[in-house]
Amino acid sequence: MINKNMKKLMTEWRNFLQEEMKVVIGAAKDFVCPPATQDLKLNTKNRDAAIHAKHIKYGPLNVGEPGDYWKDIAKYWDTTEEAAKKSNCGNCTAFDISPRMDECMPGVTSDDDGRLGYCWMHHFKCHSARSCYTWAKGGPIKEDSVSYEWQERNDFGDK
Ligand code: SF4
Repeated sequence: MINKNMKKLMTEWRNFLQEEMKVVIGAAKDFVCPPATQDLKLNTKNRDAAIHAKHIKYGPLNVGEPGDYWKDIAKYWDTTEEAAKKSNCGNCTAFDISPRMDECMPGVTSDDDGRLGYCWMHHFKCHSARSCYTWAKGGPIKEDSVSYEWQERNDFGDK
């Protein structure tokens, strides 16, 4: 009788473990690191596209020497330069600095001007001190759960 109960318990336990493994494997498959965080060429391609696209204009190239970048973006938004400077990747809704995304980032993510994060709108590693025409308030993304939600809504395609 004890043996029979033990056998039943073992079978139930094995089934439970198999189900759990399926969930873990499924989650890992769905939430791989965004390709641009792992592929420098792809990241550069997406970043350059974001710099040159007239509706994005990611910049400034040199945060310390921004030239007319903030003046131009302030004009685009019909606001002041000061207000424009406060609307940067660092507080954009698409800027992902969640712990799971930090794990995806190769190498150092911070410097004297700020830090790198992943841009879910244009798919490259952008810098908190820069900005672009498609900035939207509400960021940054700090929670893994929010990062996964963005990923669920994204089809990387060739990005
Ligand atoms: S994080 Fe926001 S502001 Fe920065 S490049 Fe992406 S969309 Fe533009």
